[in-house]
Amino acid sequence: MANYHGPVCRFCRREGAKLYLKGERCYTPKCAIERRAVPPGQHGQARRRKTSDYGLQLRAKQKARRTYGLLERQFHNYFQAAVREPGVTGINLLRHLELRLDNVIYRLGLAASRKQARQLVSHRHFSVNGRIVNIPSYQVRPGDEIKVRHPDSPVIAVALEAARVRTVPSWLGFNEEEKSAKVVALPERDEMETGVEEQLIVEFYSR
Ligand code: SF4
Repeated sequence: MANYHGPVCRFCRREGAKLYLKGERCYTPKCAIERRAVPPGQHGQARRRKTSDYGLQLRAKQKARRTYGLLERQFHNYFQAAVREPGVTGINLLRHLELRLDNVIYRLGLAASRKQARQLVSHRHFSVNGRIVNIPSYQVRPGDEIKVRHPDSPVIAVALEAARVRTVPSWLGFNEEEKSAKVVALPERDEMETGVEEQLIVEFYSR
């Protein structure tokens, strides 16, 4: 599956919020939102007209999609799966996103960004229940045990250091010494990504 490899700070500027796509830099004054919080492009500074309902829904969807680093097709597939499941569609959608292995690695602080987490998973740095998993979209389940295959890896050490500003959510049990973790529960809404407006995303796809 193709990935986006272009500049990413423009996504934060477009959404007018930090999406934390660049790891450590996002927490420094070098962050583009700190320096130039205007939408990207030639007309970025022009006064904007009132945004329509559709515009708000579109932005909510784009913001969530970019936060988790997914292409439109992947994101839409998660939405369709969420619709088919019992419960609240928006929460189901967010749960799918949170349970991706690359997101779990990021949440644990084993990668500085979701993008780096995706790369580390692809490069076979982790095992789930004793088996190597190199698929970033792998959906973990409660009870799954995730281990770093090379605990002394300098990449992991640097990422852990950079991630001290974040907290590991309570649905993940993390043993930093052993560099292993367990999914202890399904994530609840208050521990998922806070900037996502899932109701607007549901409205966007329900038009
Ligand atoms: Fe977004 Fe991080 Fe770039 Fe800041 S440094 S604009 S938070 S990606």
